Amino acid sequence: MKITQIAVHQVDLPLSAGTYTWSDGKSIRTYDSTVVRVFTDAGLVGHGEVCPLGPSYLPAYANGVRTGLAELAPHLIGQDPRQLGVINRIMDQQLKGHPYVKSALDIACWDILGLASGISVSTLLGGRQGEAVKCYRAISRDTPERMVERVATCRAEGHHHFQIKVGGEPDLDIARIRAVAASLGAGEVLVADANTSWLPHQAARVVRAIEDIDLYLEQPCLGYGECLSIRRRTSRPFILDEIIDGPAMLLRAHADQAMDVVNIKLSKVGGLTAARQMRDMCVAMGIAMTIEDSGGSDIVTAAIAHLAHSTPEAFRFSSSDVNGYNTVSIAEGGPRQLGGYIEAPTGPGLGVVPHLDVLGKPVLTIG
Ligand code: MG
Repeated sequence: MKITQIAVHQVDLPLSAGTYTWSDGKSIRTYDSTVVRVFTDAGLVGHGEVCPLGPSYLPAYANGVRTGLAELAPHLIGQDPRQLGVINRIMDQQLKGHPYVKSALDIACWDILGLASGISVSTLLGGRQGEAVKCYRAISRDTPERMVERVATCRAEGHHHFQIKVGGEPDLDIARIRAVAASLGAGEVLVADANTSWLPHQAARVVRAIEDIDLYLEQPCLGYGECLSIRRRTSRPFILDEIIDGPAMLLRAHADQAMDVVNIKLSKVGGLTAARQMRDMCVAMGIAMTIEDSGGSDIVTAAIAHLAHSTPEAFRFSSSDVNGYNTVSIAEGGPRQLGGYIEAPTGPGLGVVPHLDVLGKPVLTIG
């Protein structure tokens, strides 16, 4: 089987909450998502999707995805999409770095492998494990009162795992954490995510002030050394996200006992192939995970669900239905959260069928 053509589509996905805000007042109103359609000489078409959270969250941006695809996709024409290791080696040889560009292509090739073999991607990734996958809800940074209201709204939708966005002025962040924590019921999970934004002296103040609260702290500072320093000053369970950008960093952080949980975002590490490798390493090392991505709609949510659902339940700290944050459906069969949980589709491949009218005309066609 050979790849004959790759079509690239751009889709705007307005956020259902209007605006999403995180550290330093960064915010976006619309996901700028990129969908690839990978055509083969066997008549099978695989789909992938990648959507950075605007240009200032990770070193990734939407126009960079499309520019990178124009550079990279020609090297995959004529290749067998079922040979994921070969596909990934070619991508790494032809474009250094830029894992987010590779993510959509890698996901589409997994879709083709599943379609060709008649089995689901979750089966290919190890097999469906346990019950449905729990999703967290991210709560935009806002006044403490409005964040408590937002948590109540999300609870009414079935969510009981909240990741509140902090990473501003420390006294206000302490007030945000205290207000939301006081509003939680038994069994609910609270994560305070500073998204790299505190300086160490600020993070040190916050962790001391909230030591009595049962919560998880996520990525307080920008640098690894700074995060490690804060990790050693708190007894709260610790999550690393932005800094864990691949297997080497995961191994280093594990050797330093720098975290209890890591967030694996498909596009941050290069797609399902790399994310599966890190998932398996985490299982071997006893590290729980949030398996997710930075944004997107039904195709990327399906990819997330397949990897998460094929992960042992004890290691699934949480996951994310990224399609639940926006108002546009781009494919039939994308997992939709129900009571705060999603399930991997059971059909062959990713189990999604794109709405071609929503994707519109390709912005780029290669091959
Ligand atoms: Mg995070």
